[in-house]
Amino acid sequence: MSVFNAPAFDAHEQVAFRADPETGLRAIIAVHNSNLGPAVGGCRMFPYANEEQALHDVLRLSRGMTYKSALAGLPLGGGKSVIIGDPRKDKTPALMQAMGDFVDSQGGRYVAAEDSGTGVDDIRIMGERTPFVSGLTDNEFGGDPSPSTAWGVFLGIRTAVALRSGRHDLDGLRVAIQGLGHVGYYLARFLRAEGAHVLGADVNEDNLRKAVDDLGVEVVSTDEILFREVDVLAPCAMGAILNDDTVPLLRAGIVAGAANNQLSTPEQAANLADRGILYCPDFLINAGGIIDVHHQRAGSSEAEKRAHIERIAPTLAEVLSRAEDCHGHTHDIAEAMAEEIFRGPRAPEHRAVA
Ligand code: NAD
Repeated sequence: MSVFNAPAFDAHEQVAFRADPETGLRAIIAVHNSNLGPAVGGCRMFPYANEEQALHDVLRLSRGMTYKSALAGLPLGGGKSVIIGDPRKDKTPALMQAMGDFVDSQGGRYVAAEDSGTGVDDIRIMGERTPFVSGLTDNEFGGDPSPSTAWGVFLGIRTAVALRSGRHDLDGLRVAIQGLGHVGYYLARFLRAEGAHVLGADVNEDNLRKAVDDLGVEVVSTDEILFREVDVLAPCAMGAILNDDTVPLLRAGIVAGAANNQLSTPEQAANLADRGILYCPDFLINAGGIIDVHHQRAGSSEAEKRAHIERIAPTLAEVLSRAEDCHGHTHDIAEAMAEEIFRGPRAPEHRAVA
């Protein structure tokens, strides 16, 4: 397995591997860029079919974190970690402790938070072995940053709708949400509170039922959810769902969701624009979670955190207006704006803060 020639390798500063036969841990930590500060990012556990897949994921996701944190105005770099294994079968306290040791060995260059396949409890166990973990401070949601992510996506939707149609209320707006998990559920809740009509699909029956019972979400099959005629499509399940098979069939005016890496390739940004679909860059509007994690670490007030998340709206407005002015694609414009920030003059010397 080559790291330097891997398709997703992008001058990452550091990629570390750890195998621990005693606990069965096989994990990778990738630090993409730390110009702005320590690389904070989730620790994902997933039953990858092979090491190449795990490497691809961690390289891609850590790069995304650099862009996300920079554009969100955070003093953080981009990093991510992955554990190869099935979280339902392979996760043990000893394995999470071993992961904590691995994180600790990075000396604070990488700080772990929860991600898919891991939860606050797992990060707490890692925290028995390292101070370099985040997202454990109890907030009104028990430390879970997902409601903050959903709030940022909601603000993104409101901004895009205002720009596209001049509407400042969401009453009757039709929004299709793919995935009603941690983020999708709260997004549906915020939208319903503003009078939007929410269509939702999920492969998990319990999550689907909860959204229907609590919020009155209209159930759509998982095969159809992407292709319904709606004002907004909000992908909140998995990445790469905007691809050659799906983009030609979309019937949404706006795509704005939480899932990371929604575009299967950068060219899909052009395909969406050609179809007249306004794409809100995922790494911009789903930054609420990392903003939340940062403010938990900094011990900020809820008001400070909320004000920071609300800056997503003017940043998106700027991206959309620059894209219109120069006939560019929103994804490319947002990436260029992030690069201006993290490739700019090196931020003042930072220290890893546990
Ligand atoms: P989650 O696992 O809680 O929810 C995802 C939901 O999608 C689950 O209910 C799952 O059953 C469902 N799903 C999976 N495959 C599906 C399919 N084919 N069709 C319909 N539903 C399907 O995850 P989450 O924390 O809500 O995150 C959602 C997405 O947002 C992920 O891509 C994640 O990486 C991204 N994200 C999350 C956060 C956060 O704060 N949680 C922050 C930034 C980005």
